[in-house]
Amino acid sequence: MNILTMMWKNLVGGSRTLLFPARPKVTERFRGVVKFDPALCIGCAICKSRCTSHAIDFKTGKGVFTWSYDGGQCTFCGRCVEGCKTHALHQESACPPVYTTKGELKESYTVTRKPPAPKAPPAAAPPATAGAAPDSAAGGTQ
Ligand code: SF4
Ligand code: SF4
Repeated sequence: MNILTMMWKNLVGGSRTLLFPARPKVTERFRGVVKFDPALCIGCAICKSRCTSHAIDFKTGKGVFTWSYDGGQCTFCGRCVEGCKTHALHQESACPPVYTTKGELKESYTVTRKPPAPKAPPAAAPPATAGAAPDSAAGGTQ
């Protein structure tokens, strides 16, 4: 393209950028912000270790743990959701929120640790069958 044509197009074409807080349309494959269900969380912290963006924070206390998520730091990769075995995390493909201050989107949940499930009693040995011959007698006499 000729430089003069390009300049003319730029002059009459108007602005190509959007004024904040307007935003372009979200792509179809956008996974979305992470949502947390404290009722399903077991406090394993796998999500934190899988998050390379440090968007998830996890702190333990006496009988409780605190799970935090900063949507402003999240890259919406979905690794935390994939790693959560209890399905306490999911992603909502809503538009990422607009924010102006670092940490503004951070949300925290303090969850009481659930007591461990009681262990099942050991399985009882099957009762011996009356009149059954021991294995050594199976060959008969000579
Ligand atoms: S959200 Fe899932 S992966 Fe993260 S601590 Fe809770 S149970 Fe573990
Ligand atoms: S979606 Fe990715 S960046 Fe966002 S919290 Fe999960 S692992 Fe971290």
